[in-house]
Amino acid sequence: MELSERITQITAGGSDGWDVFYRARRMVSEGHAISELTIGEHDIRTDPSILQAMDLSARDGHTGYAMVPGTDLLRDTVAARVQMRTGVPTTRHNVLITPGGQSALFAAHVAVCDPGDVGLYLDPYYATYPGTIRGVGAIARPVQTNAEDAFQPRSEQIETHADGAVSLLINTPNNPTGVVYSRKTIEDIADLCRRRDLWLISDEVYDTQVWQGEHVSPRALPGMAERTLVVGSMSKSHAMTGSRCGWVVGPEEVIAHLINLATHTTYGVPGFIQDAASFALNAGTGLEEDIAAPFRRRRALALETLAKQNIVGLVPAQGAMYLMLDIRATGHTGEEFANALLDTRAIAVMPGESFGQAAAGHVRVAMTVDDDRFATALKTLCEFAATLAGRRAAE
Ligand code: PMP
Repeated sequence: MELSERITQITAGGSDGWDVFYRARRMVSEGHAISELTIGEHDIRTDPSILQAMDLSARDGHTGYAMVPGTDLLRDTVAARVQMRTGVPTTRHNVLITPGGQSALFAAHVAVCDPGDVGLYLDPYYATYPGTIRGVGAIARPVQTNAEDAFQPRSEQIETHADGAVSLLINTPNNPTGVVYSRKTIEDIADLCRRRDLWLISDEVYDTQVWQGEHVSPRALPGMAERTLVVGSMSKSHAMTGSRCGWVVGPEEVIAHLINLATHTTYGVPGFIQDAASFALNAGTGLEEDIAAPFRRRRALALETLAKQNIVGLVPAQGAMYLMLDIRATGHTGEEFANALLDTRAIAVMPGESFGQAAAGHVRVAMTVDDDRFATALKTLCEFAATLAGRRAAE
């Protein structure tokens, strides 16, 4: 029996670049003590106050089918939040609640790409991006960004790949680079989208984790609200990764069609999860700041450690829970470096090559272990890089 091309081509048969991650997990299960700086998930769990709201809602009976587009309360809450943060008039009719940001990314691409259309995305990229675009039957076309530009995309470079494209997917604050796109970068991208008539899919799931600079949502720029679909999520802002609650914000007409898609795919998000999300968003920015605080602290620790050496370079760590380290001075690829670091120092990081070609010679460090462990691991990583570079110099 033949399976559809669409499903068999999602990962295009290639390696998914997560070998180091799986090897580290195996070593942990065999009893080795590994510092795992690989995965984008908090080392704290969902706040007890949010769990209490979830429990109360479930006990109150909200365990049946919820409204497919999302509850009025959560849609209104998300709309008010987006309007407050961006100034763009937004109502519940601009919001679809989805089971997490990933499902929102998929839905957004279903809304704008026909099979065979080209969807652009930027390299380095979050692991699921090309598969998400291929999953809707579209052609995933990467556009490289450059380490020399600190991975800020250049609109001229995007434009050289824009022929035949219908959409562009961007992510700021960025996973895997930790870069926050500047206002100029976002303005240039918006200008390109208007000129080339592209839909912009803006993944803003890390918008509460900004350490330096400002988060600019492209939907707020002139002429962009009608062509931008914003992807948001409770996963990173409220340590609710397992609750699977996110959203798409976009033009009313697009959301109306996406509600139709949700009716025929997810059939909505559990009511008690949505009530917990509404509670969490209405709890104010204090809770979000508390959840972001460990990453802010560890970033500061990392800046101190990295300032004391000159082998490992740091891509500007402006947001999100990651550091992108330039290890090219060791003469090794990110993959070689990450494998050797795991084998000889019991520290797991992600090779830059796992996120595309543009981050070759880099490794991504997730700041998702406790402060002491994190500081020690980073120091060891720098010493290891210095050893490799010294060996190289001696050759
Ligand atoms: N976008 C980016 C850039 C991410 O890093 C993630 C999760 N790691 C997601 C989207 C999806 O998150 P979720 O589905 O948990 O909302």
